[in-house]
Amino acid sequence: MPVHNRDIAERFTRLANLLEIEGANPYRVRAYRNAARTIGGLSVDIADLVAKGEDLTRYPGIGKDLASKIRTLVETGELPDLAEVEKRVPTELSDLMAIEGLGSRGVKALYKRLGITGLDDLEEAARAGRIREVERFGEKSEHAILAEIEKLRGGAPERMRLADAEDVARPLVEHLTRAEGVEAIEVAGSFRRRKETVGDLDILVACADSGPAMERFVGFEDVAEVVSQGSTRSTVRLASGLHVDLRAVSPSSYGAALHYFTGSQAHNIAVRRRGVERGYKINEYGVFLSGGGEEPVAGAREEEVFERVGLPWIPPELREDRGEIQAGEQGELPELVTEDDLLGDLHAHTDATDGADSLRAMAEAAAARGYEYLAVTDHSKRVAMAHGLDADRLRRQMEEIDRVNDEGKGATLLKGCEVDILEDGSLDLPDDVLAELDLTVCSIHYQMNLPREKQTERVLRAMDNPHFRILAHPSGRAINERAPMELDMERIIEAAAARGCVLEVNAQPARLDLRDVDCRLARERGAMLALSTDAHSTDNLGLMRFAVDQARRGWVGPGSVVNTRDLGGLREALRRR
Ligand SMILES: [Zn+2]
Ligand SMILES: [Zn+2]
Repeated sequence: MPVHNRDIAERFTRLANLLEIEGANPYRVRAYRNAARTIGGLSVDIADLVAKGEDLTRYPGIGKDLASKIRTLVETGELPDLAEVEKRVPTELSDLMAIEGLGSRGVKALYKRLGITGLDDLEEAARAGRIREVERFGEKSEHAILAEIEKLRGGAPERMRLADAEDVARPLVEHLTRAEGVEAIEVAGSFRRRKETVGDLDILVACADSGPAMERFVGFEDVAEVVSQGSTRSTVRLASGLHVDLRAVSPSSYGAALHYFTGSQAHNIAVRRRGVERGYKINEYGVFLSGGGEEPVAGAREEEVFERVGLPWIPPELREDRGEIQAGEQGELPELVTEDDLLGDLHAHTDATDGADSLRAMAEAAAARGYEYLAVTDHSKRVAMAHGLDADRLRRQMEEIDRVNDEGKGATLLKGCEVDILEDGSLDLPDDVLAELDLTVCSIHYQMNLPREKQTERVLRAMDNPHFRILAHPSGRAINERAPMELDMERIIEAAAARGCVLEVNAQPARLDLRDVDCRLARERGAMLALSTDAHSTDNLGLMRFAVDQARRGWVGPGSVVNTRDLGGLREALRRR
């Protein structure tokens, strides 16, 4: 039976949890945790790598020893270290580590004092009021534990999509900016790292006197509940359910605090460790000399924190401890694509199918954004719900595009089509009409639940068609709504690189598809990307920044993106191999 990345990651997490509860060496615990995180974030199958005999130590956090343990696990299904520790510690204790606020010491105390080994035991004890008998727990912790159990049982509360979080954050930041004495403000955390979803918002302000900012914060009109209010930190729950933390720091600590609260935790640990090696203690208040002085030696600006540990400033999107520290040290941080690099958009719908606006309006809106070109890619006939185009209607649209382009008022419209990839891998329109187009954007909208092998073959077969140009929303996922299709993304990326096909990074807030890790794999394998909005209205063209965010998280530079090129360069880049 194949062992999947997520199984491997789960085993290493369990091992780390049980060792931590046992009180093992923290370095050892951390090594297993790092390994779990690295493996969980890979988009290639570890089992495949092992089968091919590849060197696993090239992945961050995987040393020789871990590599051999992973190999054993893949080949035998066993992780001997885990079996060993499970003889001493009940394995279900690992599940309790998911309860926020318990920590390994809390879990250990509950186990030792009350014999609690799992969630059921824990719930029973909390309801019976027995947890308060254990040192460092009280009645309050019982309520908190029950609430946490409920959360776990009901599945984790949904993380908010980045675009939705942005809608919530924008007015709040504007509101806070007007507070007296606020010198700087930033939403930190995964929001600043531009992760596809956000758990809660961490807002940071710099001010000499935090009073006015805190007052203004808890008085914001969307606040449903003030969870806590203090002079340096307050927490509220907004009507949307989102929790927001506001922290106020003095301007001299702002850079250190910004770095600290931006995370990720793994990145911060790596930076702090470098600090220790250089004789510094780094925390949210600044950079301090180890063992001396109350006064920070740096910390007003984020750049100073990096400088002290011998690194250039690292863009927040890269701060996941996925190799950015090593790259920074070697002066090899990638140049990342920006919105300004983009000269056009390669996926847009009009009122000919399910878009809201006319060709002309779309061309003018694209020009208003400074674009040189916009690809019109209405649906093909298979998407009957959207009144998809057949060959005749598509040809009539091409004529209309010529007329609009002749008027010369907007961006140059490219003749395209979002062609459905049918179940057998053929395309939804005849080759002769596809040959008349500037480009095709090919995608799957039906039969999304085929088994992995079949779904992968379907896409590869579609790429065999010489008119196939861009694979749109490759995984088909909808964040918080629909899981990605079962696909061997690595094979698809490699096939695209070999054949000169392009992979889309779709900017629709629910799609963000390719994912960041797949963007990175595409870059590594030399596949080209198109950053596209899949706009269904003129407004939608403004979503482009979300595709840029994903690409940046995937270490993608302008050179890997076809729509950073002018029209001539684009036509060149879209040529098939
Ligand atoms: Zn589509
Ligand atoms: Zn579309």
